[in-house]
Formats: sequence, C-alpha cells, structure tokens
Amino acid sequence: MTGIIGAMEVEIKHILAKMQDVTEKSIGGIIFHLGLLEDRPVVVARCGVGKVHAAHAASVMTTHFDVSQVVNVGVAGGIAPEVEIGDVVIATGLVQHDVDVGDFGYPRGQVPGTPELFWGACQNLTSLTKEIADKVLENTGNKCHIGKMATGDQFIHDPATKEGIWSNFEVLCVEMEGAAMAHVCTIVNVPFMAIRAISDKADGTAHEDFPAFVEATALVSSQILVELIKKT
Ligand code: SAH
Repeated sequence: MTGIIGAMEVEIKHILAKMQDVTEKSIGGIIFHLGLLEDRPVVVARCGVGKVHAAHAASVMTTHFDVSQVVNVGVAGGIAPEVEIGDVVIATGLVQHDVDVGDFGYPRGQVPGTPELFWGACQNLTSLTKEIADKVLENTGNKCHIGKMATGDQFIHDPATKEGIWSNFEVLCVEMEGAAMAHVCTIVNVPFMAIRAISDKADGTAHEDFPAFVEATALVSSQILVELIKKT
C-alpha cells in the first residue's frame, strides 16, 4: 500500500474525499486514514507543520503499516527563478537546509553520520509523476519542474534567506517537511517521493501569497497524487 503524508488539512482533504472503505487508526497522536483510493490501498496522514511532525508521522507510518512507498504532498515556496506560483515541483532529492555542522567540516545541510547531502527520491516514481503532472498542468500556463527541494523549520519569506538557500543548494523550492520524511524513509529503507505545488515565492510577499494560493495549489498537488495512484 502507498503511504501519503501532508502537513496540513488543506493538503490531504481532497485525497480523503476521494477515498472509499475508510477506517481510522490513531497511533502516536496521529490519525491514519486507511482505505481505497482509485481502488488502490492507501494510508493517509496529516502530520502537522515542520520536520519533527513529519519525521514522527513517517516513522509511525512505516513501522505500523505495510507501506511499499511514501509520498509527501502539499505546497511549497518557489526558490529557483523559473519557478512560479501554481507550478509543481517533483523532488529528485531533498536536503535539510537548516542543518549546519560546518565546524566539523560537513557541508551545510549534511547530517553527520549520513553519506549524502540530498536524500534521493525513488526514480521510477518521480519520472512517472513528472509525466502525470505535465498532463494535469496542460493548458493551465503552469509548469512542472523536476529537481532538488529543501526543507527546514522556517517559513521562508525574505529575499536574503531565499538567496542563501538558492546559493547553497540550487533547489527548486523550499518547504518544512519533505526531507524529514525522506530521512526516516531512508533509515527504514522505504522508497519515497514528494509532490509540491507552489503557493508563494518564499519572498517579501509570501505571507500574502501563501493564504491566497494555498487552497488552489494544494488541490493541484492532490490531483497529481490521485492520478499517480491510478498508475501504481
Ligand atoms: N498557516 C499555517 C502555517 C503554514 S507554514 C498555520 O498557521 O498553521 C507553511 C507550510 O507550507 C509548511 O507546511 C511548508 O511545508 C509549506 N510552505 C509553503 N511555502 C513555504 C515557504 N515559503 N517556506 C517554508 N515552507 C513553506
């Protein structure tokens, strides 16, 4: 079965609305919604905002349910200049931009004791999702980008911080959960991926753009997820 994690209600509500035969299990303070999505078995959880919430949900989900893959869905702030509000980003790899153990020679973002800077997403899932997202976005004027994503416990909203993340990591977008899920999934050896639609550009107007676009963009990431599930 596929595990699906979103931080906020708005990011999972359209998925829950399409599910059938739903039962709920509460474990570790998280409600897991089990059922069928497009006739495929899934388990869906709202983890809450931030890395600790995401890591906890990914850990409980992968140890209590027989998930063969975990997908993180939701919204994000655009970082790369070509990424616009309404676009979609599919992660090939995720980094924790707020990890800094540079005093001991680690590059910014690298967790000591782990081999890679970026947690690598499942390649089959990402290329399939890219094809699906291109179709979903056809004739909308928005684009699907595939590439790197950054995660940290900060809502990025000022140009200097945005520029710092761009110059350090050259990621397409920034959010607050993906790399934490990726880290846990790597530890437990479960393939993962992340689909994020762009709600703001992580800049001086992010605090206005996020509330204006979160509903519509969360719907787009949910639609792509549903189309992906049909093909799994
Ligand atoms: N309004 C919410 C908090 C939202 S925080 C509340 O009051 O509870 C932003 C959420 O959207 C996070 O889950 C994060 O993953 C994503 N996100 C969107 N834009 C972002 C940005 N510019 N920086 C960081 N995370 C962003």
